[in-house]
Amino acid sequence: MMAGINAQTRLYGVFGDPVAHSLSPAMHNRAFAHIGENAVYMAFCVQDIGKAVEAVRAFDMGGVSVTIPHKVSVMEHLDEVDETARAMGAVNTIINDQGRLTGKNSDCAGAVKAILEKTPIDGKDVVVLGAGGAARAIVYGLKEQGGKVTIVNRTREKGEALAAELRVDFQPLEALDQLACGIVVNATSVGMVPDVARSPAPASFFKKDMVVMDIVYRPLLTRFLSDAQDAGCATVDGIAMFVYQGASQFEWWTGKDAPVVQMRETVETLLGQR
Ligand code: NAP
Repeated sequence: MMAGINAQTRLYGVFGDPVAHSLSPAMHNRAFAHIGENAVYMAFCVQDIGKAVEAVRAFDMGGVSVTIPHKVSVMEHLDEVDETARAMGAVNTIINDQGRLTGKNSDCAGAVKAILEKTPIDGKDVVVLGAGGAARAIVYGLKEQGGKVTIVNRTREKGEALAAELRVDFQPLEALDQLACGIVVNATSVGMVPDVARSPAPASFFKKDMVVMDIVYRPLLTRFLSDAQDAGCATVDGIAMFVYQGASQFEWWTGKDAPVVQMRETVETLLGQR
């Protein structure tokens, strides 16, 4: 990668704090190299998001990923925020179109693409576990695709508030076992290292015709997915959403198809799966 850097190289990056463990630089650099794009993607540990956005303008950066804690505060520094990102209340991507900076959110498209690989969404009953930032993007995307979504969340008030805002149903965690659905998504952090023995759903919940996605990717095979596989369900792991949200960013920035196979391979290698 480094050998290719020259006076025409376009700079991209991720702004966040912390960012030292971000998987995005390796994934995007592999993608740029694969399609022969003269670009480099770096991780920037940013405290002052306003100054960092000024740097995008000053250096004419090609685009930026934005992560915690700047996904909300970045919005006031941009020229425009698109409709989906406004509905999310969060920007995870900056597009630089000849100096005009637009905020977008690729989490929604990432989750939808990952599920569409396994099943159509239109008309399906969908249960989304969780009511945080990731759940908001997923519920919004699945509803746009015609899914009949029910949010299930530990904290009732948070779940009800998100369900009311996005105009979907809410059920408390205790009701989970009685819910019938074709698609289930874990959008909580339950099951993530080090609590790998935990799952947000009892094993008895899974029925073999369900498509089950977990957005947790450390570990890749969570207890939630492993219980679903034991019940004969089709499963979608957490890398799928991560790679597809990155692929959407890549396509917005370059206008070219993202090499998703190579991007996934890179992330799997980083996570020790290869
Ligand atoms: P968040 O805003 O903090 O929301 C966390 C959610 O998990 C809340 O609904 C919370 O419920 C629930 N939760 C946490 N601990 C729980 C427990 N012990 N029992 C039941 N529910 C619990 O986090 P987020 O940004 O949405 O991220 C959620 C997870 O998704 C994280 O693990 C993150 O790494 C992962 N993620 C993955 C991708 C991807 O591309 N694969 C993208 C984004 C995020 P309460 O409301 O009751 O607190």
